[in-house]
Amino acid sequence: MAASGFISKCPKRISHYLPKISSGIKNGTNLTRYFYRGFSKQTKSSDKFNLIIIGGGSGGLSCAKEARSFGATVCVIDFVTPSPKGSTWGLGGTCVNVGCIPKKLMHQAALLGEAVHDAAAYGWTINDLENVKIDWEKLKGAIQDHIKSVNWVTRVTLKQNQIEYINGIGKFLDKNTIEVKTKDSVRRIYGDNILIAVGGRPKYPDIPGAVEHGISSDDIFTLPSPPGKTLIVGAGYIALECAGFLNAFKYPVSVMVRSTVLRNFDQQMALLIEENMKERGVQFIKNTTPVKIEKNGENLTVTFENKNTKHTNQENFDNVLFAIGRKALTDDLNIRAVDIETDEETGKIITINEKTNISHIYAVGDVIYGKPELTPVAIEAGKLLARRLFGDSTETMNYDNVATTVFSPLEYGCVGLSEEKAIEKYGESNIEVYHAFYKPTEFFIPQKSVAQCYLKVIAQRENPKRVLGMHFVGPTAGEVIQGYAAAMQCNFTMDQLMGTVGIHPTVSEEFTRLIITKRSGLDPTPQSCCN
Ligand code: FAD
Repeated sequence: MAASGFISKCPKRISHYLPKISSGIKNGTNLTRYFYRGFSKQTKSSDKFNLIIIGGGSGGLSCAKEARSFGATVCVIDFVTPSPKGSTWGLGGTCVNVGCIPKKLMHQAALLGEAVHDAAAYGWTINDLENVKIDWEKLKGAIQDHIKSVNWVTRVTLKQNQIEYINGIGKFLDKNTIEVKTKDSVRRIYGDNILIAVGGRPKYPDIPGAVEHGISSDDIFTLPSPPGKTLIVGAGYIALECAGFLNAFKYPVSVMVRSTVLRNFDQQMALLIEENMKERGVQFIKNTTPVKIEKNGENLTVTFENKNTKHTNQENFDNVLFAIGRKALTDDLNIRAVDIETDEETGKIITINEKTNISHIYAVGDVIYGKPELTPVAIEAGKLLARRLFGDSTETMNYDNVATTVFSPLEYGCVGLSEEKAIEKYGESNIEVYHAFYKPTEFFIPQKSVAQCYLKVIAQRENPKRVLGMHFVGPTAGEVIQGYAAAMQCNFTMDQLMGTVGIHPTVSEEFTRLIITKRSGLDPTPQSCCN
């Protein structure tokens, strides 16, 4: 009997250990992952895999590693088509290369620039405070060095896990066959299961000069020279975050908004972020869209139109960055060949529990329709899928109550429903909104603006007064909200929140001190810090 056949027939308790020895898989404490029937050691020469993954980003890589830990044979195909400006990057997908990681590092640089000024107020001697300035090349170089090291570690991890990696562009030939075009070859591989994890890329508006002269978040982190005066078109979180760090680096920034800032977020909180950014010097050009972009010597001349008045205007910028949304990368996949169902408007793949309409073809991450486009969402969905496919698990991804943060650079963290969505779902008379402005202790000495430091909790009005949404604007909002997101997963109530003793003096404790409801009409501004 072949070893794999033997393993499949072994009682579960014994077979836990056998594949562990035979496959040499070392990681993992969950022994069930070593109990997978019929998978052998992955050999390089094979063109047949238990799982082919198209897309080596957050979702694809997480699924690959988890599937491999159960002994499945796995191939990851990844390719980055250069942006219109020619930017390209290594293995790891959007988050690592042109998303969360460089963005968070630029955010950190922005916070440090602010901290230098705070430090002076706290008594540090800093010579020539007026001339504190960012060195773009140095910052960019440090960030790119970090990213390159992550790319390298990612490749090594795939190798160590015996996951075959092909640097090429993949497309469907039929329901089990993928054609991979690499720099110098075309190869056909076959998968029992196929995972689409191709993510998305920034959209450009259909106006003259946009693609030719514009840049996107794909380019900003590697821009060869300092960005200078920048127009950011769009008002989602990517637009605001880029505007936030560029403004902090003292480049003049305008944000062109067609309709609403942070449209998918709580609108009261979105307004606070907008106000804070304006206070810091970001210009907002509202109800306006660009009409054309022309090269004018060293500058870009942008013609733009106010959508209400129809008046057009022109302004010169050094760079125009489009952050008007992202397009799912399904066009190159030849998914028509396999009739995978997609949403007509967005091109995103329609899934139920990450399964497409084709029984052995799956999708995770930004490419799937109607789910949050966030790294931890893609990672978790990929991991759980692998466990269902190759382990004994039946656990499905829970897309509810996923926390997120906007780094503007004042942070806005939230989890659960916005006030608008809670009203829509439960009715205004059935919800209670608890709120407060607050003053972070660390803001007092440098006399930083506390105008937008605000938080609110939306809860059911009647017992059990379940918490429906939590929103926080202020320092370290991402860190603050993450813990409360865990509480929300446990369906915690307003009484439990009020029964929690805070940690003093922190900003997170403000959630445990919320007693004023919007309905009461009482003043939510703080009187004192310590009682
Ligand atoms: P991706 O990571 O995009 O990976 C897909 C991979 O597939 C890419 O490498 C792509 O080139 C490749 N590919 C595509 N088509 C093919 C093909 N046919 N053949 C081979 N390879 C192909 N999320 C957060 O949670 N927190 C944040 O703070 C955050 N900040 C962000 C900031 C910015 C500026 C951006 C752009 C995104 C940010 N995100 C953030 C979102 C996050 O990056 C994405 O949700 C996440 O990367 C999605 O992972 P994915 O696996 O679906 O796709």
